[in-house]
Amino acid sequence: MPESCVGHLVKYYQSSFVTEKPLQISVVSFDGDMTLWDFRKVMRHSLKHTLAALQKQVPTQRVLELTVDEMIVIRNQFAEEVKGKIWNLEEIRLRAFERTLEYAGFPNKELAAHLNAIYLKHRFEDIELYSDVIPTFGVLASRFKLGLLSNGNTYPERCGLEGYFAFVVFSQDVQSEKPDRRIFETTAQRAGCELAQMLHVGDSLENDVAGARNAGAHSVWLNREGIPNETETRPDYEVASLTEIPAILGLGGK
Ligand SMILES: [Mg+2]
Repeated sequence: MPESCVGHLVKYYQSSFVTEKPLQISVVSFDGDMTLWDFRKVMRHSLKHTLAALQKQVPTQRVLELTVDEMIVIRNQFAEEVKGKIWNLEEIRLRAFERTLEYAGFPNKELAAHLNAIYLKHRFEDIELYSDVIPTFGVLASRFKLGLLSNGNTYPERCGLEGYFAFVVFSQDVQSEKPDRRIFETTAQRAGCELAQMLHVGDSLENDVAGARNAGAHSVWLNREGIPNETETRPDYEVASLTEIPAILGLGGK
């Protein structure tokens, strides 16, 4: 991390302690994708396996030229088209494979379902937690109620987090998504706390930080790569690793 970034973090950190009164936090909610696990990595890895299976089965020129990047673009375009109409992410994924086969000149719903099954197998079985997740949860779990608040669809029991969360809120289940304040209100209700008692941790300045702040919760921006914040959004805290969170909550050193 460049030195200037470190200084920036220290400044944030100190000002939080010096100028604010102690937090009355009882609940910590976590974003999932890119906060607890590397979603982009597992998604690309799963698409690579799926594309290889497709190319083996349908070795036409167009299919052989198809790329993972194109598949991602097709999925994202489809998700944008059906935003607010189709909430279920697995359905969007399946329909995106149907769209991909049409694009590759080989429309076939049965094959799309087969590809979807290959994708989901890798997508859920090959996911890995970041190395700071379990140590941090180990410190926090005895003092705070922990939960997952995600716009994605990775279930905690599928990635080694079974038993850690007192509540799990997925946008696809409640039909509102971060940064909409309603999903934060739902989360506080499920957690049994006021929004002001909740600290939300996530990697997205828009979805996690601005969303939490607008709803009245406290926010931590997880900035693993030390990227500059060029937005108007100001997190209450900024950290480079989850291991810094216990100190924010008054639980001793890192
Ligand atoms: Mg995220």
